[in-house]
Amino acid sequence: MKPPPFGYTRPRSLDEALATLSTHGPDARPLAGGQSLIPLLNLRLARPSLLVDLAFIPGLADVQAENGTVVLGAMVRQRAVERDALIAQRVPLLAEATRLVGHPPIRNRGTVGGSLAHADPSAEYPAIALALDAELVVRSASGERVVPARDFFVDLFTTALAPGELLTAVRIPVPPPGTGWAIQEIARRHGDFALAGAAVLLRKTGDGTCEHAAIALFGVATRPLRVTAAEHALTGQPLTAESIREAAALAVEAIDEPLSDVHGSAAYRQRMAEVVARRALEEANRRAGT
Ligand SMILES: Cc1cc2nc3c(=O)[nH]c(=O)nc-3n(C[C@H](O)[C@H](O)[C@H](O)COP(=O)(O)OP(=O)(O)OC[C@H]3O[C@@H](n4cnc5c(N)ncnc54)[C@H](O)[C@@H]3O)c2cc1C
Repeated sequence: MKPPPFGYTRPRSLDEALATLSTHGPDARPLAGGQSLIPLLNLRLARPSLLVDLAFIPGLADVQAENGTVVLGAMVRQRAVERDALIAQRVPLLAEATRLVGHPPIRNRGTVGGSLAHADPSAEYPAIALALDAELVVRSASGERVVPARDFFVDLFTTALAPGELLTAVRIPVPPPGTGWAIQEIARRHGDFALAGAAVLLRKTGDGTCEHAAIALFGVATRPLRVTAAEHALTGQPLTAESIREAAALAVEAIDEPLSDVHGSAAYRQRMAEVVARRALEEANRRAGT
């Protein structure tokens, strides 16, 4: 199917893009890599009158290290994340998650900001942002605000972004040395969206006691979820096969609105959530230094 007619503009500055979005209101849509938006247009599930292409705005595709954080501009391509030495060294969880996003042609075009703003519940980046306690920098014609990842993902394909707002960057606190990390997912084929996935960060003391746990699930509910009950259950406890199994079982209880569709029933996804949570905890535990 072909998309309905739409206008197209190519702003050369962030201010110009924000002014255009403010003038046109919800009829205008930002265009990043187009890997989700263009299929939506082709299927006529979205009918914006104007696409505001973010690709020519200077400064939106930078990766920088700043005061213990890695800051990624919204237009950093997923392929650039995959190949970035700074990210590989400081936030390896993000580098590994990127290799699970679609296939190279999709990652060549798809962007960090596009994936976060699209908020597909089965996408890797929203869950990674949650697990890493990232902050999302949001700009509009009237100013800037910073939204913690835990407040950004509201519902199915719905974020805290208002019409006229742009996600401009994501700030990721660099996990302390010794932090173990893992991402595990179950998909029908490599590159498919996950039917269930888990991203985990773990830190432990010299005697193997858990001092920090972050567990985020994706592909199982209408939005990515932080599993705080399981995190609290692990913290202060020895990291053993049994405590990990118990935490993984608790992870399932966090799934308040389970996803169910032709790709996987709610019951299947809940069962797989426990499996991926356990596998990710085991792997992060192996990687965690003391
Ligand atoms: C075959 C296929 C397989 C895929 N598999 C996966 C997968 O396994 N995992 C995965 O995570 N993704 C997958 N994707 C999606 C891919 O990662 C997309 O790149 C991503 O979801 C959207 O990023 P984009 O830059 O292409 O954004 P676009 O498609 O351009 O935009 C997506 C939405 O976000 C809005 N938007 C974009 N940028 C901004 C911004 N800076 N501020 C505010 N709003 C903005 C747009 O208006 C639009 O509504 C797949 C896509 C395809 C086609």
